[in-house]
Amino acid sequence: MIYKILEVGPLGANCIIAWDEGTKKGIVADPGDEPDRIRELIKTEQLQISHIVCTHAHFDHIGAVSDLKAETGAVIAVHEAEMEIYDGARDQAALWGYELADLPKPDLLLKDGDNITSGGITFKIIHTPGHSPGGICLYGQGIVITGDTLFAGSIGRADFYGGDSALIMESLRKLAALPGSTVVLPGHGPATNMAREIKTNVFYQELRLK
Ligand SMILES: [Zn+2]
Ligand SMILES: [Zn+2]
Repeated sequence: MIYKILEVGPLGANCIIAWDEGTKKGIVADPGDEPDRIRELIKTEQLQISHIVCTHAHFDHIGAVSDLKAETGAVIAVHEAEMEIYDGARDQAALWGYELADLPKPDLLLKDGDNITSGGITFKIIHTPGHSPGGICLYGQGIVITGDTLFAGSIGRADFYGGDSALIMESLRKLAALPGSTVVLPGHGPATNMAREIKTNVFYQELRLK
């Protein structure tokens, strides 16, 4: 698997494009904005995008979903518990002063434990609520895409609509079961790995994991 991270939009969200080297099939996680840059990468690498996966539906992570859907025809996948946030994303964006295109309906509603396969790569869906009700992480090929659940040295806010600070701690505990070598690709900021976060992230220290 190959992956590339594009930091997009005014809030600097990480859009992650991951693909199977052999078949050139792949997924786009969190196309937050700047569809032209995402499109260019897809073209340059001659990728066939099968899925557009939203770790959650805050507007900074889904701003380019409409454009990408129109261009690739890929399946839009969102956790079933995130639909209220997804449907309200345009209003949320407007509150922040941004204009969002009409969002196409998701083609696939995800649940914990589902798999998304694209060519020779597969990601397991881990439901990680707390930052938002239908927040998910995508785990596979030695990486985990964590959206706004886990950042290098920090975690996502739990005080937005639908957030829950106890739930995000349980979600962190769930992620701790992944191998320590797992590379963490967060929704904002630099990459890290599970072992480092469990050792140094103050929120993991709160959980007192051994
Ligand atoms: Zn968010
Ligand atoms: Zn975000």
